[in-house]
Formats: sequence, C-alpha cells, structure tokens
Amino acid sequence: MEYIVNHIPRTTPCDRRPGLAMAAEYITIHNTGNANSTALNERLWLTNPSNDRKASYHIVIDQNRAIECLPLTEVGWHAGDGGSGTGNRKSIGIEICESGNYAQTLQNAARLVAELLKERGWGVDRLRRHYDWSSKICPRLMYDKGTWAGWTTFKNMVRNALQEGEPMTPQELSAFKELQGQVATLAQANTHLGVVIEGQAKQIKALQDRAKLAEVPAWAQAAVDAAVAAGVIDTKQGSHDFYRLLTITHRAGVFK
Ligand SMILES: [Zn+2]
Repeated sequence: MEYIVNHIPRTTPCDRRPGLAMAAEYITIHNTGNANSTALNERLWLTNPSNDRKASYHIVIDQNRAIECLPLTEVGWHAGDGGSGTGNRKSIGIEICESGNYAQTLQNAARLVAELLKERGWGVDRLRRHYDWSSKICPRLMYDKGTWAGWTTFKNMVRNALQEGEPMTPQELSAFKELQGQVATLAQANTHLGVVIEGQAKQIKALQDRAKLAEVPAWAQAAVDAAVAAGVIDTKQGSHDFYRLLTITHRAGVFK
C-alpha cells in the first residue's frame, strides 16, 4: 500500500484547512458515506470548486493507497463536535473508502492506524468513532444495526496489527532464509574444525608418547644406573635422545 502526501492548500475554500496547530490525542475513524469514491476521488473533492461544505479530514484510504490531505499536526473538521470540540481539535481523522475491495481497504486501514498508534506509543484505547463525538452513525459500515460489531472487529484487527507488526515481504523472507542457511553452514564448519583440532591433539599426544621409550634400552642401561647412583636423575623414562645424551655423558666419565 502506498502512502501519498498531498495536502490541500491553506487557501482552500470553506476554511477546510484552518491551519490551527493540533497536538492529537485520538484517532477518529470514519466511512466516506460514498459507495463509489476512491481515495483519489475524495482528495480531489476537497479542492473541487463545487464543494461548499466546511468538512475535511487528515487521511483517506482505499484498497490501493492512503492519501494524507492535511498535516497530522493541524486541525481538520471531521468530528461534528464544533469549533472547540475535542474530536475536531484533538483527533486525527481517517476516512475509510467504501468502494472496491472493502476487505482489503479495511486491512490497509487497520495497518495504517496501527502504525500511527505505534509511532505515538498509543494503544487501541485512543481510537474513536465519529459517532463517539457527535452521535452520527459513522463509520456506517461498522454500525451493524446498532451493535457496532464491525467496530469491535476493526479494533481487534488494529490490535493484531500492533502485536504482529508487518509480515515479511517475499524479498525479506528469502533474504532471511539465505541468512539461516549461512548460519547453518558456519555452524557445520565450526563443528568440523573442532573435530580436526581434536584429532590433531590426539596425534600430537601419540607422537609424544611414542618418543618416550617404555623401557631403558640395553645400550643405555649402564649410563642410567650410573646416573641414578650419582643422584643426577630419578626417572628412567625418557626419549631415545635422552638415553643417547645420558650415555655420552656417562662415557665422558661425568657420573664416576
Ligand atoms: Zn464520519
């Protein structure tokens, strides 16, 4: 869904953009009351010379797009509660189109409203019907013969959208899966590396053990006996080189 900013000019007739600063505290939901108009039709109507009504709103949304007609920090006339009414002075007015694929439009509206709430750190308790400000049966497609079941459904849709956030796009999903694959490959490589290191450690230990001769070789026995008797060594475990050096040392007469 695209979001278009196309503000009506300050000079728009009937004071439809009064330019009054607004610090919004609520979001007010409407239906356009026109079964055939799109968001673009509704936006163009606001600046149509034949329009003589002092009525405006902030955002109009249909199955394809949302159009921002007034800055969200300025007052619009949509709540029917007068020039100083809280609905008009403190709420962002959202017009939901009735034309086209209404289920899609409603889904778009729920996502948009969830985003507006999230940006402000608000919950669904900030949502109001036009009806709440001035008892007009609006949003009329949520009225359901006075039960307002559709309104409850819409608030639940917004609540769900707030909790779930945006679902992943196909591009995001494929990038995510690729990343998962890379992580798995990396983990596998690390495991393989661990096995290699363990194998090498075993091999090194085996080589060290092999260097130590289990028994004193016969040719070194005299040297070992002499060295032990002289108190020079107290171990008989050594490598081939050890016994060779010991024998040379012994033959040099050091242990006598
Ligand atoms: Zn309304």
